[in-house]
Amino acid sequence: MGHPANRAEVPAAGVRTPLRGNGEGATLCPICRERPLRGAQTACSPRCRARRHRQRQDEARRARDAEVRALLLTAQESIEAARRRLEDWLNVTIKALRARKGMTQEQVAKKAKVTKFYVSQLETGLRKNPSLPVLRRLAKALGVPVTELLE
Ligand SMILES: [Zn+2]
Repeated sequence: MGHPANRAEVPAAGVRTPLRGNGEGATLCPICRERPLRGAQTACSPRCRARRHRQRQDEARRARDAEVRALLLTAQESIEAARRRLEDWLNVTIKALRARKGMTQEQVAKKAKVTKFYVSQLETGLRKNPSLPVLRRLAKALGVPVTELLE
């Protein structure tokens, strides 16, 4: 282990022991930080190599988790944005679509199987969160795909 030829290629990541008599330090295993490395070794033993392998797998898993979390956050934010858009603009959208079709609130209500009072409340913004089935029926009554009510 102490042969100078073996020490020529020690990895930079290693930790050097205090200087010895000949002025050169041996490089310690970066995993256990106990046993010295030999030659081009990057870990002192199969056990340390296995430990490093596990560490790298853990790191990779943490990186993937972080990525998934970021994606989930983005998806969550778009859901929030869509919901807010729906709440803020549904009344305007419904009123505009109904005007474009030349329909009365009563006609829309009848087609969508809701009350005229309900349509009126949606259009004045007093009701903001129709259920999805109601939303679908309203869209059908207005002759548009349901996505148009969400835009
Ligand atoms: Zn080791």
